[in-house]
Amino acid sequence: MRLKSFARLSLLALWAAAGPAGGVSDLPAESRPVRYFGVHYLVGSRSDFDVLLGELPDAARIGVNLLILEVDYNFEFVSHPELRGESPVSRADAKKLASACRRLGVRLVPEFQSLGHQSWQGRTGPLLTAYPDLDETPGRHPGNKGIFSRSWCPSNPRVNEIVFDLYDELIDAFEADALHVGMDEVTAIGSAYCPRCRGKHPARLFAKAVNDAYDHVAGKRGKEMFMWADRLIDAAAIDYGEFEAAKNGTHRAVDRIPKGIVLCDWHYKKRKTYPSLPMFLAKGFRVLPASWNDPAAVRSLVEYSLETNSPAMLGHLCTLWLERAPGFSRAPQVKAAAALLTTKD
Ligand SMILES: [Zn+2]
Repeated sequence: MRLKSFARLSLLALWAAAGPAGGVSDLPAESRPVRYFGVHYLVGSRSDFDVLLGELPDAARIGVNLLILEVDYNFEFVSHPELRGESPVSRADAKKLASACRRLGVRLVPEFQSLGHQSWQGRTGPLLTAYPDLDETPGRHPGNKGIFSRSWCPSNPRVNEIVFDLYDELIDAFEADALHVGMDEVTAIGSAYCPRCRGKHPARLFAKAVNDAYDHVAGKRGKEMFMWADRLIDAAAIDYGEFEAAKNGTHRAVDRIPKGIVLCDWHYKKRKTYPSLPMFLAKGFRVLPASWNDPAAVRSLVEYSLETNSPAMLGHLCTLWLERAPGFSRAPQVKAAAALLTTKD
């Protein structure tokens, strides 16, 4: 099983499409492969991790060569043990997975969900439970009522002092050359209830959060940075719906962040076009489109992305949110992606 080659344009055209920072492959256009067939896997508990370890060989067999492992707080952090989740992954677990990924030719990129999604429904995550003063809406929304999810404050320097320690531990434990920093669906930003952020434009605050993370991940650590792309899409310009694009102005941050970031542009519904893909390419970003559980939507997104014929279109990422079960490599949506991304010879 290998990833498909696809190229119908000249290198010059590819360069023009990708822009100077687009990561043009040094391979001839005729032999350029789809770079990644990825899986995004959320570690909700230690048992999820065991399922993943068991399934990894099958995933690699169907062509998966990138694993975005969303760990968040579910790790035995040493720098901040108070922030460990209830069923954390150990350093030994991480080493075991890193070794298995190396053996199977799978690039392992841990993810730490940053800025938004610091609460989900009635539960607040470890950071804002331990340090409620770092909340963007401190003291508001008791029981998380009336808020989609909590954010940490991007203007409080104490956040980065803590969180970058967690980034470092994940990078080191998983022996990773990249980190995914999440940052999707951030709706609580620039709150009137935050003494540091009130009155500041959400795009400025979002760009600061991204740039701070990039300075640490890429600048200090020399690693590649991935993030979700939805906050960089203007919901007024592209009709993607409430969460797939930004309605609060954060999209303007797209012109204030480094082009070296890999943008994971997620779309879960079947559409004829996905205009954010060429938009990000035109701006000089590398893009990794991401899908979910509808095989027809997966096919639609993969086919549309491949038609861009850009070396900055890195492949495809299948997200597994509730599908973290043995045999996920045989899930219909994963098979749909494999059929388009790989060849059997
Ligand atoms: Zn704030």
